[in-house]
Amino acid sequence: MEDPSAAQAVIAHIKKLLLSGKAPELTPELAELPDMPEIHQYLVELRRQLGGYARGDFSAEVKLRGVMAGMVKVLQANMRHLIWQMERVEGGKLAQRVDFMGEFSVAFNSMVKQLDDALTSLRLKEEELLRITHELQQEVEKRGAALSALQKSEENFKYLAEHDPLTNLLNRRSFFAQAEVEMARNTIMDNPSCIAVMDVDSFKGFNDTHGHPSGDAALRHIASISQQQLRSNDIMGRLGGEEFIFFFSNVDLEQGRLAAERIRAVIATNPVKVDGRRLPVTASFGVVEVPPGCAGTGNIMDAAMRIADEALYEAKAAGRNRVMVATFTPPEPTIL
Ligand code: GH3
Ligand code: MG
Ligand code: MG
Repeated sequence: MEDPSAAQAVIAHIKKLLLSGKAPELTPELAELPDMPEIHQYLVELRRQLGGYARGDFSAEVKLRGVMAGMVKVLQANMRHLIWQMERVEGGKLAQRVDFMGEFSVAFNSMVKQLDDALTSLRLKEEELLRITHELQQEVEKRGAALSALQKSEENFKYLAEHDPLTNLLNRRSFFAQAEVEMARNTIMDNPSCIAVMDVDSFKGFNDTHGHPSGDAALRHIASISQQQLRSNDIMGRLGGEEFIFFFSNVDLEQGRLAAERIRAVIATNPVKVDGRRLPVTASFGVVEVPPGCAGTGNIMDAAMRIADEALYEAKAAGRNRVMVATFTPPEPTIL
């Protein structure tokens, strides 16, 4: 370049391209100079590209050639690769390592490793927690099952202690316990109640004729159909053998007799079915009234039952399959 002022203009232009915030326009005079438009264009493009990187945009394609463009391309590729790796880390892929960015690689790798270690230890703790929770659940279930088995066997024992195994009726002891409670309620309400004893007729003969198992079936049958005749507050129990007892709640002697009569009739008209045979069976009854106000006056049940037994004996003597009543006079309450 022979014109020194033209050379100075070129230097000033390139200096502005390198240093000033705004890229200068290429003047027509400079555009005339050989290679000047390409150099201008090159530096403008380089500025644009690096400006994008400064703002964090690594997406624009590098269209330049030459060593500087090559370095810019490498920088762009590294940054894009790093962004991709960061995204993988964000997605939980913590095996990512960087080995192309010097000190940054060391810091990045150390950060990702720490994350990886922390996450692994968290996972282990989570697994441990899950295992403990599972064990606890199993333990709770085991204990729950043991507890309900215990409750069930307690219920079974209670049931067995209170019931007769052949007929499932209340046994003697629990019949009297429940009847005492019901009688106390009637006393409070000033209501009478009745006690009836029932004895199956000629049951020895029944056993002898049809066999003991048929006798058992007859007792179960009698218990079942008799119970169906009871009202909700009435109570039935098995005294033993072929003898049963009833507490008819809130009835006087006549109503108690009718209640017994109903049961007698049901038994007499419903033969027990054994092996396809219908075996008739009957029972006799003795009924007494327990007047209101008797509860708590000594062993009233025993006394009433003794009188009812006498009525039953009369029913047997009169030919069986019948109901007899007796008058029960409760003993005077003992005043201490
Ligand atoms: P009655 O009409 O005078 O009462 O005559 P009965 O034959 O019923 O009286 P008895 O007391 O002579 O006989 C009662 C019979 O009841 C004898 C016994 O074998 C039978 N018995 C008692 N308990 C059971 C039982 O659980 N199962 C069976 N199958 N029979 C029983
Ligand atoms: Mg008997
Ligand atoms: Mg009998």
